[in-house]
Amino acid sequence: MFEKILIANRGEIALRIQRACRAMGIKTVVVYSEADAEAKYVKLADESVCIGPAQVPLSYLNVPAIISAAEVTDAEAIHPGYGFLSENADFAERVEKSGFVFIGPKPETIRLMGDKVSAKNAMIKAGVPCVPGSDGALPEDINKVRKIVRDIGYPVIIKASGGGGGRGMRVVHTEAALSNAVIMTRNEAQAAFGNPVVYAEKFLENPRHVEFQLLIDEHGNAVHLGERDCSLQRRHQKILEEAPAPGISVKLRNKIGDRCAEACRRIKYRGVGTFEFLFENNEFYFIEMNTRLQVEHPVTEAVTGIDLVQAQINVAAGGELPFRQKDIEITGHAIECRINAEDAYKLTPSAGRITQYHAPGGPGVRVDSHVYHNYMVPPYYDSMIGKIITYGDTREQAIARMRIALSEMVVDGIKTNIPLHRDLLSDATFLAGGFPIHYLEQKLSLHNQTS
Ligand code: ADP
Repeated sequence: MFEKILIANRGEIALRIQRACRAMGIKTVVVYSEADAEAKYVKLADESVCIGPAQVPLSYLNVPAIISAAEVTDAEAIHPGYGFLSENADFAERVEKSGFVFIGPKPETIRLMGDKVSAKNAMIKAGVPCVPGSDGALPEDINKVRKIVRDIGYPVIIKASGGGGGRGMRVVHTEAALSNAVIMTRNEAQAAFGNPVVYAEKFLENPRHVEFQLLIDEHGNAVHLGERDCSLQRRHQKILEEAPAPGISVKLRNKIGDRCAEACRRIKYRGVGTFEFLFENNEFYFIEMNTRLQVEHPVTEAVTGIDLVQAQINVAAGGELPFRQKDIEITGHAIECRINAEDAYKLTPSAGRITQYHAPGGPGVRVDSHVYHNYMVPPYYDSMIGKIITYGDTREQAIARMRIALSEMVVDGIKTNIPLHRDLLSDATFLAGGFPIHYLEQKLSLHNQTS
């Protein structure tokens, strides 16, 4: 096992990783920007190194500074968390070439899955169901493109193979609009991602977002840990997640989960990974794989009893998974509310000092947050300031506990989305479960029209 790990991230996930390391007896090095110098989790680490000013490109994306922090502190491995450099194959390669272990898959796996056309091809080969679409990249010849899209059937979505973060996509409803859409998406893809390859797939009108958690060691053991429903999103950002997904049968879960595990064995995946699917009319359609820890990993931890960060560190150190698929049981229900520093309905960010802070607690309540009374929320980073996770024997109990947790939580001095979560936790559509990804935006636009 490693003796010392460098955490190349900030905020709640830096603290989460630090806690896993402490539980495993591993020393931690936290890197931080000048804007995070006073944060308590930085002070709690065994060592900390300032890697630059507040701006992300100069600190949390500053690869040479992060590598030299690992060198001067004698860390053996680097945990990238999520966001920032976590899915950057060039960074993973630099880490390994510099003699450290990258806590994640191999650089070539990140590269394979980061390219949507090659990822989809790998999934089709492994029998993972995908959205019907063009067989790989769209050709230059627009007549050929028209024929391909006619065969798929309108509406379609044109997507950049190198795209990410919800960018590089365009929905096309009629053949008249096709040529322009392909050219524009290609140009944008070249400019934004340096890769002009685009492909087409059927546009699903009302899907849910359901994703599978996978965990794989280097000895050929791959298990799935069930699914999460992350359909409550705005601008493609998830805000509330739950596990398991309402209404998915154990049989269907195991069928899809096993295929994901098989895909991981084939591509020699290592670590934790998430297969994202759109789910419509009881069918799963793969859209992409995230080759890192997810924000919403705690709901899976709650229903499986497995510490995903400890497991991830263990397999990165070459360890074997201590369980097999038959040992994994999914029990109860968990919900996560992401607490963001933003106006609950207008969604505008709200940085500043937290003048009062009170975290909820009690049975089945977990709070993952790096903030505290008098903490200054910096304006430079993601607006998420923490997560509340509740667990119950049933979905109803998890919801009831979340309502109480939200009623107890106090964050004053800045605006947060707690009022929106309170509203959602008594929303009839949410309570029924199993609604499409557009639901929250529809609800928000209704709210903004009437207020
Ligand atoms: P990114 O890597 O940019 O996040 P994804 O492929 O994960 O791109 O797609 C982002 C979002 O776009 C999905 O969560 C979904 O809302 C929408 N989307 C993508 N593909 C389709 C599709 N075939 N049909 C309907 N919506 C889609």
